[in-house]
Amino acid sequence: MIYKRSSALFKEAQKYIPGGVNSPVRAFNAVGGEPIYVKEAKGAYLYDEDGNKLIDYIASWGPMILGHAYQPVVDAVIEKTKKGTSYGIPTEIETQIAKLAVEMVPGIDKIRFVNSGTEACMSAVRLARGFTGKDKIIKFAGCYHGHSDSFLIQAGSGAVTFGAPNSPGVTKGTAKDTLLANYNDLAGVKKLIEANQGEIACIIIEPVPGNMGCIIPKEGFLEGLRELCHQHSILLIFDEVMTGFRLAKGGVQELLDVQADIVTFGKVVGGGLPVGAFAAREEIMNHLAPEGPVYQAGTLSGNPLAMAAGLAMLQSLNENNEVFKSLADKTKYLHEGIAKVLTAHEIPHSINRLGSMVSVHFNEDPVVDFDSAAKANNETFKKYFHGMLKRGVYLPPSAFESYFLNDALSYADLDFTIQALNDLAPELK
Ligand code: PLP
Repeated sequence: MIYKRSSALFKEAQKYIPGGVNSPVRAFNAVGGEPIYVKEAKGAYLYDEDGNKLIDYIASWGPMILGHAYQPVVDAVIEKTKKGTSYGIPTEIETQIAKLAVEMVPGIDKIRFVNSGTEACMSAVRLARGFTGKDKIIKFAGCYHGHSDSFLIQAGSGAVTFGAPNSPGVTKGTAKDTLLANYNDLAGVKKLIEANQGEIACIIIEPVPGNMGCIIPKEGFLEGLRELCHQHSILLIFDEVMTGFRLAKGGVQELLDVQADIVTFGKVVGGGLPVGAFAAREEIMNHLAPEGPVYQAGTLSGNPLAMAAGLAMLQSLNENNEVFKSLADKTKYLHEGIAKVLTAHEIPHSINRLGSMVSVHFNEDPVVDFDSAAKANNETFKKYFHGMLKRGVYLPPSAFESYFLNDALSYADLDFTIQALNDLAPELK
């Protein structure tokens, strides 16, 4: 494949944008080389500036669950745009999407919309602190909740990829209120709580992490957290920015039947426009301004175009009972195909999958937390990423990211992908 124009565009971008990108992982730093520049996307495919067609397994990092340029979303946004793009005054569509989200997600009464997953998680933690009157939070190594200061303490995703889990600029004062636990280690969480009795406002967790690759919760882990939170009057926050409206209509809470106190959303909920949201039962949400004392606001929050895109997306997912199963079936097919090829070529690997999230780590041992994810062979991953890209398959450019399958992918696309890996495999040894 030729990347002449992408390369020229990247060089030009670097003159005016730090690192040439508006979000670090896009620069391919984890895998080397230069990013591709996308011209357009439709269904399961990206078309780059050099005329290459790529099968897309990232789906804009999750939102495009029904494929790119999904017609109902495109139509909804075009219609809304004709009526003005922002008012800063309430609109009916905000209530329509709020009502639908509350119907789809278990255990929530009210929801507030913001502009990103970062904002949603940051606001959820403030709300938890305001509600409980306590300061400290527990997060898990390798879980990413956006780039707000409190979360840049061993965060996954780009923060790990760049070897800067504790970013300069985060004050010691902020960092000391974030306590770190290991994913899937309930005993460790218990110890942290006992050592900080009465001080912890909330535990925030990706219930199924996607920011150290995809990690599966051990049986009883999430239930155990739920129980600990009950016992110690700590609020449990599920960050469902990746998993919400993706693993099931009601996200992980529905799929694994564990109820959080506050849940955050992003990605799918905006249908590809910049939207985040956080939600909880009424008693908690009524602590937010203007009803309650916890301040939170946004000039573009509830923006009509974003709400129109989000509503069209949620309606499609809500009306299509088969879609989550169809996505999970495709993901299982891909998983099994990849595993078969890697096993046949004796390439050590560990693959985690749940619903439409899957990731491949190049190590033999199971990947269950940040430490085991970090032990995977990144040199093999780089060859894998570039080898697949060369063959027309666009995978996440970091081993610390999950694939997000979209329903526009056909079984022929999956077979193409598995065949591409089969061709590449001898080079991965
Ligand atoms: N939470 C999780 C689980 C995420 O994966 C992300 C982003 O990838 C965020 C929060 C932050 O969302 P955003 O990038 O929209 O700010």
